[in-house]
Amino acid sequence: MLNALGETRSLISGSVLVAALFPGRFKPNDVDIYCPETTGTRLLDIMQNRFGFHLNKGVDVQYPRHLAIRKIHWLTKGSAKINLMLVEGDNAAVAVFQFHSTIVMNVLSVHGLYCTYGDLTLAGEGLVNNSQTVDEAQAQRNLRCIEKYEGRGFKFERRLGNYKRYADHECGINASCPTTVRTLHDGHSTFFPLTAHLETDKESNTKNNRTAFDGKHSVVWSLGGDSCGWGHDGFAFSVELHDKKEEETAWDEGSR
Ligand SMILES: [Zn+2]
Repeated sequence: MLNALGETRSLISGSVLVAALFPGRFKPNDVDIYCPETTGTRLLDIMQNRFGFHLNKGVDVQYPRHLAIRKIHWLTKGSAKINLMLVEGDNAAVAVFQFHSTIVMNVLSVHGLYCTYGDLTLAGEGLVNNSQTVDEAQAQRNLRCIEKYEGRGFKFERRLGNYKRYADHECGINASCPTTVRTLHDGHSTFFPLTAHLETDKESNTKNNRTAFDGKHSVVWSLGGDSCGWGHDGFAFSVELHDKKEEETAWDEGSR
């Protein structure tokens, strides 16, 4: 399965990873896979013909402003359920920063488990991501998700400063602050490498130990919202990493 994720540059995200970070706390109902639309056909083929999943339905979706997710496929095999989300463009990680809260902003790739807001998440705490909420229906959906996680014992705040240890944090600088511009390669996330399958490939093993990703793409994002500092609209966009300099330029543009 990891190889299939690597081959199609897909990521597992959602509740299954929170369950993995907090063993025994709750049982996830299904697995969410995020796949770039450019490799979606390949992954669907692998899921059906290599792993024996049955494709139930595919629907085009258009969330308000959540333009990153284009289509959802529902796959089943016995009692196992997979939601396969096709993400616009070539970088599935972009979708993660539109989720309802930081607690679910984790991804598993072929390289390992990447926990974007590790300082909060590993303490069982989350920050509500309200910058992407545009209407009442969506606000209600997000609230139900937050309540589900509260029921599982996680704590949420709308303002980072409401957590005591962040009361005096530097807005725009602290990696957990929603106004800070972050990148997948900024070194502020928590990464648990999965390297067993890479033992024969020492070079890529070393290279990919830094982050969970493919070394070709990054994401520049800021959650935004009005809960901190002056506030601004949230954003997340993919950048191609031709070299290190490119990401630094993208970072500069993002912070303007
Ligand atoms: Zn702040």
